[in-house]
Amino acid sequence: LAELIRQRAWVEIDQAALVHNVQQFRQYVGPKTNLMAVVKADAYGHGAIRVAQTALQAGADWLAIATLGEGIELREAGITAPILILGGINSPEEIEAIAHWRLQPTLCSPEQAQLFNDILAKLGKVLPVHLKLDTGMTRLGTPWPQAVNFVGLVQSLPQLQLASLYSHLATADDPNTATMLQQQQRFTTAISSLRQAQLPIPQLHLANSAATLHGPAWHYDMVRVGLGLYGLYPAPHLGDRLDLKPVLTVRAKITQIRTIPPGTGVSYGHQFVSEETMPMGVVGIGYADGVPRNLSNQLKVLVRGQPVQQIGAITMDQMMVDLRGIDNPQVGEVVTLIGQDGDRQITADHWASTLGTISWEILCGFKHRLPRILV
Ligand code: PLP
Repeated sequence: LAELIRQRAWVEIDQAALVHNVQQFRQYVGPKTNLMAVVKADAYGHGAIRVAQTALQAGADWLAIATLGEGIELREAGITAPILILGGINSPEEIEAIAHWRLQPTLCSPEQAQLFNDILAKLGKVLPVHLKLDTGMTRLGTPWPQAVNFVGLVQSLPQLQLASLYSHLATADDPNTATMLQQQQRFTTAISSLRQAQLPIPQLHLANSAATLHGPAWHYDMVRVGLGLYGLYPAPHLGDRLDLKPVLTVRAKITQIRTIPPGTGVSYGHQFVSEETMPMGVVGIGYADGVPRNLSNQLKVLVRGQPVQQIGAITMDQMMVDLRGIDNPQVGEVVTLIGQDGDRQITADHWASTLGTISWEILCGFKHRLPRILV
């Protein structure tokens, strides 16, 4: 079957690399800090169920996802580890489903806490909940100066069990750490205010991959690691802390080889026009698979370990490559878009910097039409 799937285009998931990365983080944070594997968005395009299973086996303690549906998918696959939903949940139906599937919600406001308590009281259930403080990300959360009120309310609601208090950093990948330090200071102040009010201090967590790589002062009771598990660094200046290996490879095959005469316009809009007679390959992958059309004429791919220029507009299902550098190219040859071929490697970071975006977006962009093959 794997051979059949490899007829056109596919994603390879390097399980050994994933295990290696999980172990790197596991060792780095030490036994007192829980490792939460962030597997939202189908594990950043890597396939949530497999990644979750492998990460748990390799030493992760918790899983995080963004939506209720993502959590149900993991439970239906038989995963029993604790799962935190990072996103906002507001409807009674969702709350009921969360309780049913033993997922653990993030609560972002006193009103939401009250709603959860009311619904859970009707169901006769108690649920562990995770409170989110906004310390400067300005996304979900209760503003940090209101921590005492928020925690105090949750403490008083009988159906809610305070499991953790957390916040999320806005600039952890920035070499300028001023904002990140200010957020940490606010988190610390909020925790002190809870102590003063003699409220319980639950598990605390603040760090994504970037903050985790900043060292133990950021680890608290748990770290929430996404990108790093997939083998990419959140920023170049954090690249020397751990030895991470990219997990995802994208390959496709050449489906036709043509020799085109000089002056031939290639693909929609004829953005590329040949200057001489040249061999051109058609490759069976396009923007509907997650190769951004904005990479047209800028993308380099690997054939036989050599860089080859992509030419003309990338189309929905296919793209063309300039095969002048390849001796006697053949239909069926493998083209590597992201990953290692011979001595050369192309990473999602290369695409991201060409496009002016971030590697997270590139990884999440690979569509389900590309089968995920474990290697
Ligand atoms: N924590 C929260 C709240 C997040 O939203 C995310 C991802 O966006 C993460 C942790 C993981 O971030 P990263 O992939 O940078 O490790």
